[in-house]
Amino acid sequence: MNIPPISDQAFERYSRQIMLPEWGEVAQHLVSNAKVLIIGCGGLGTAAGLYLAGAGVGYLVIADDDTVEYSNLARQVAYRESDIGIAKANALATQLKALNKNVQCRPVKRRLSERVLEIEVSLADIVLDCSDNMETRQAINKACINLCTPLVVGAAIGWNGQLMVFDFGFSTSPCYHCLFPMGSDALSRNCQSSGIIGPVVGIIGNLQALETLKFLTQKASPYTRFYQFEGKTLLLHALLVQSDPECDICSPKLREVPDEDLVK
Ligand SMILES: [Zn+2]
Repeated sequence: MNIPPISDQAFERYSRQIMLPEWGEVAQHLVSNAKVLIIGCGGLGTAAGLYLAGAGVGYLVIADDDTVEYSNLARQVAYRESDIGIAKANALATQLKALNKNVQCRPVKRRLSERVLEIEVSLADIVLDCSDNMETRQAINKACINLCTPLVVGAAIGWNGQLMVFDFGFSTSPCYHCLFPMGSDALSRNCQSSGIIGPVVGIIGNLQALETLKFLTQKASPYTRFYQFEGKTLLLHALLVQSDPECDICSPKLREVPDEDLVK
């Protein structure tokens, strides 16, 4: 791949990742031109956003309609006491720009309607679901399927976390709804109702950032895995998941995947 030369300043900044044989200047170029949408600026979104900004992702859109509260600070450690009462999207954007002024960061401080969600997803190369409720997760999943946009889903509750990466460029990919149909109780609880230990949500957010960087720079895999992290034992279980032929969101007969998107 022919890429423009990287500046001396950028080379120094990203030198520790550029020196990796799987990364180099080509991956840095890909990342610096990538557009990433993060939905939810809680514990997952703040952790993922910081590492993606640090790695030099070029364009970040961060969406959340909440304001920073005192009870957020134990786990949403990107925020400061002085941020209390400020819109999370704005407060996180300030932190990300302070970390890396080369990153273009656009805060969206409202809940995304179906139409706006589709527009934002259409503008992104990859989407991170860092939300905390089932309704939003299902809406994000549907929009990503419709637009064949890859989706990295994180969730954390109590001492445990989950991670899923869906590449809808593959027609065989399952979707979030295959695993958690609407009405499923499995992830309908949230931190407010069930509690959370802070580092677990940070670990899952970091895993979302890691998977995003891998997706942006490496060959895509047609296999979808569901990862379950146990904070008490540090065990990480991986399950291969397949699409549910009866899924009323991603059933092959409902999907049209462009041929060119199947080859990466
Ligand atoms: Zn499905």
